[in-house]
Amino acid sequence: MALLAAHGGSTEALLATITAFIEQQAAAADAPEAVDVDQMTQLPTTVAKSADKAMAKAVAARAAQAEAAAGGEGSGVDVGTLCKHSGCDNKYAAEASMGAACVHHPGVPVFHEGLKYWSCCPAKKMTEFADFMSYAGCTTGGCEFATQEEIAATPKPCRYDFYQYGDCLAISIYAKVADPMRCTFAASGKQLKVMVTFGFSNKFELDVQLEHAIRPQESKVEFMAPKIEIVLKKASGDTWAELGKVAEKSSLC
Ligand SMILES: [Zn+2]
Ligand SMILES: [Zn+2]
Repeated sequence: MALLAAHGGSTEALLATITAFIEQQAAAADAPEAVDVDQMTQLPTTVAKSADKAMAKAVAARAAQAEAAAGGEGSGVDVGTLCKHSGCDNKYAAEASMGAACVHHPGVPVFHEGLKYWSCCPAKKMTEFADFMSYAGCTTGGCEFATQEEIAATPKPCRYDFYQYGDCLAISIYAKVADPMRCTFAASGKQLKVMVTFGFSNKFELDVQLEHAIRPQESKVEFMAPKIEIVLKKASGDTWAELGKVAEKSSLC
């Protein structure tokens, strides 16, 4: 109403004022970001149908799991979870597994000058890794299984690699159930910055000083079911021996 009064009701003048106001707001919103990313370009992303489906399936499975947990049933341990104790191969099958005999080594592995042994069994030093791994436990007790909560509280690492074809360099990031809405991919001619959120609570960051120059404007990202593929357009025909100087970080979000 104040705007209307100020412009004496002229629709054109009012529109011009509103347009200017919107542009001003947009410029103000963009400004800090432009400084932050340091001339980095956000790479365009597409999401394959298979990735959409995998995400929907994971969300449904997670909801079912949460519902089961809310019902007070079970211990919060996933069936198939391996016992935490060294040397024990028991897997969680049901509540009853908690009572199974747990033959294990309470000590820690010691690797020294080619010899391998358990700190709780120092008399038995071995040279073969397989012998060390299968050396029977010295203590019997109850198994202990990590709960879903404990597993969720541990950041999961994220594997990645790269390959080349034509004038492109493709980086595959094996992030299961990645959320496209919570991922960012930015690149300049010589740098790539990636932030991927996956498995609902894991964050993986990659900051690469690229070995050779790229064309960010012609580069892109695609979400596929088992991985995310970043395709960088090479600025020259060089074959890359390595990705460049890489800094990576896994955390919870
Ligand atoms: Zn032992
Ligand atoms: Zn055990």
